[in-house]
Amino acid sequence: MKFVGAHVSASGGVDNAPLNAMKIGARAFALFTKNQRQWKAKPLESQTIDAFHKNLEASGILPKHILPHDSYLINLGHPEVEKLEKSREAFVDEIERCHILGLDRLNFHPGSHLVKIPKRDPLYQEKLLEAELGCLDVISESLNRAIEATAKMDIKLVIENTAGQGSNLGYRFEHLAHIIDRVEEKSRVGVCLDTCHTFTSGYDLRTTEAYEETMGAFDRIVGANYLMGMHLNDSKPPLGSRVDRHHSLGQGEIGWEAFRCIMNDPRMEDIPMILETIDETIWAEEIQALYALVEEK
Ligand SMILES: [Zn+2]
Ligand SMILES: [Zn+2]
Repeated sequence: MKFVGAHVSASGGVDNAPLNAMKIGARAFALFTKNQRQWKAKPLESQTIDAFHKNLEASGILPKHILPHDSYLINLGHPEVEKLEKSREAFVDEIERCHILGLDRLNFHPGSHLVKIPKRDPLYQEKLLEAELGCLDVISESLNRAIEATAKMDIKLVIENTAGQGSNLGYRFEHLAHIIDRVEEKSRVGVCLDTCHTFTSGYDLRTTEAYEETMGAFDRIVGANYLMGMHLNDSKPPLGSRVDRHHSLGQGEIGWEAFRCIMNDPRMEDIPMILETIDETIWAEEIQALYALVEEK
């Protein structure tokens, strides 16, 4: 069975998120457990936690179908010690917030190396590769530390693939494999594939053949067993553009066929599938349209 929802608002308190999910007929949802543009947040109050659980029960949505997203400020691959430290601390705080809410996974972007190498540099390719590999190692180390600091919490750290805009890593399946390979406690990591990021980073999804090839590569390089969430977005920019701009389903460069494949793919059973499309007024319709793509077996 598929569990589709959207990244809903938690403004006014995380306890509002399940209610917002219910309103659009969602069986899954994503949320920020704190303001995603601020470093510090007050600890969650017991009243809020209780209200969250009460509303969650009313919605009938299970914790495993909730995919919280961490703050955009966190960069687990930051090249400067002080800022890396700040990110690592904030990341552990995010994990603790998920734990306190009874959730079992946390979605995050791997990180950015922030190195600027002039394109005219004759050693451009070599220097870029070195910066990328070094950053991937720092990210793995960040995960190992976070896992150790939260050893008693069974929260899966779910790495999202990226469009590869700027110096963001995670735009090749090999990047995800590199990170996972260096994480000691592999039962604590997972992957979330964002369809817009997958497509704009250069993996085609537009036909059944292209979809199977892309997912086959993912399975080979990373392993489908690591898949713990999906972000369902169409894309404004074209294939391989390395630009991250989401669009409503069927209105961008990807088109409906990819989403038909996803809704019938056994690799996506029982995981949260989250819309991050740009027009939230049609989320309810998009969810309906996705379920309508499921074929009888
Ligand atoms: Zn994301
Ligand atoms: Zn996403």
